[in-house]
Amino acid sequence: MSAPVAELASREVISKYETVIGLEVHVQLATASKIFCSCPTSFGAPPDTNVCPVCLGLPGALPVLSREAVEMAMRAAMALNCTIRRVSRFARKNYFYPDLPKGYQISQYDEPIAEHGWLDISMDGTHKRIGITRVHMEDDAGKSIHEGFRDSDRYSYVDLNRCGTPLIEIVTEPDMRSSDEAYAFLTELKQTMQFIEVSACDMEKGQLRCDANVSVRLKGAEKLGTKAEVKNLNSFRFLKMALDYEIARQVAVIEAGGRIVQETRLYDVASGETIGMRSKESAHDYRYFPEPDLVPLRISEAWQERVRAAMPELPAKKRERFMTDYKLSEYDANWLTADRVVSEFFEATARISGDPKEAANWVMGDLAAVLKAQGKEIADSPVSAQSLGELLAVKGKGEISGKLAKEIFAKMAATGDPPAAIIEREGLKQISDTGALEKIVDDVIAANPKQLEQYRGGKITVLAFFVGQVMRASRGQANPAAVNELLRRKLG
Ligand code: ADP
Ligand code: ZN
Ligand code: MG
Repeated sequence: MSAPVAELASREVISKYETVIGLEVHVQLATASKIFCSCPTSFGAPPDTNVCPVCLGLPGALPVLSREAVEMAMRAAMALNCTIRRVSRFARKNYFYPDLPKGYQISQYDEPIAEHGWLDISMDGTHKRIGITRVHMEDDAGKSIHEGFRDSDRYSYVDLNRCGTPLIEIVTEPDMRSSDEAYAFLTELKQTMQFIEVSACDMEKGQLRCDANVSVRLKGAEKLGTKAEVKNLNSFRFLKMALDYEIARQVAVIEAGGRIVQETRLYDVASGETIGMRSKESAHDYRYFPEPDLVPLRISEAWQERVRAAMPELPAKKRERFMTDYKLSEYDANWLTADRVVSEFFEATARISGDPKEAANWVMGDLAAVLKAQGKEIADSPVSAQSLGELLAVKGKGEISGKLAKEIFAKMAATGDPPAAIIEREGLKQISDTGALEKIVDDVIAANPKQLEQYRGGKITVLAFFVGQVMRASRGQANPAAVNELLRRKLG
């Protein structure tokens, strides 16, 4: 799918230009009800069942702003280091579309809830700050579903359940300089929204939607190039591929002496190309005006403080803490904070086991492998953080060997039982009882006279052979330290 990119412009020609990217991201807020009515926001209900006169825009119905939606928008704005306006206002954004029965969206225009923020991204150890222009609130439209390919069996449907679902739109400054930076930004943004429980950001459910504005200019040029807006980017991978295509296309147009026109383009997944859709609409096309049915939104200092006080830890902060408190590497800290549930699982395991580094290794290694094999998310893990922590604690005390721990873990993953139950049931406790060990050691020495002779002849490396034999005879249950000591004494 990268074929069209290579045909457009060579890497060398593209490298003469600098890419400029700004993103407009819609995030669906995880409220139980809609933004201006009490209809549920649940996904997957039968079409047109989660609706009422307000979200259908019937004449005379009046919107009432949801406090929960405002507080989530405030949390998002705070996490993005924005200034929250004391007074913000809703505005009507007018346009006609079959899935928009009101004939307008209730959005915010020149007085958004928050502005002037930033989010830091890091790539290969280098950090970069991306400016956030604004965060505003709005209601979502319904959903159009298109079906069929031939004219004779082509249908379009409209499902109005989504009408009135609360959204925030996050607009960035044109601060990104490559598709990789845009990818990193969206990753950090998604993680942040998930950590503060503002949205699950499930792209398949449309909870995170991204439009990308992109332009190119000759390196060193001061003036920004004319931008195109690319829509229909419904995965992170497509965002990157669409941007790489669009960058090459713009360079090719300019290199051929052409001009970029400001327009909206759609990314076509099948061909890997962006396709011109329409000339870009400007603000005046929407005939914005203040929403007459809603009073201005006033947010006091005290309200902000209450929301700020209840703010969960942000991913960047947690990553830092994992590195300082648990002495984890940056790689491990990144891995363990990519998902909030994983980070909480790890912390619980670390606390119970008393060994954070060991906990990190097991969560990232053995546990991740089991989840992958079983096709499960960590939330449905067959091994709980409590169980894994207990297993590592027992191992840490030297009561079971590392090899035995792996075996017990496999049984935990298969049955969901805690480690103590498995150790008890299968009699897997380590043998430290000297009497029992002595018997095994004596038997092993008696069975291997040749090696005994070698050892006594000065070849002390044969000790390892004896240790191995004893461990085997004990089915891995002998305490290795005790075995070593006993053997040295008896062989001695
Ligand atoms: P418009 O008025 O066309 O919507 P805005 O100035 O509101 O444009 O910007 C919309 C988005 O486009 C923002 O994310 C902004 O960072 C980005 N943007 C603006 N100018 C450029 C440019 N020349 N190249 C790339 N992105 C840009
Ligand atoms: Zn409703
Ligand atoms: Mg704009």
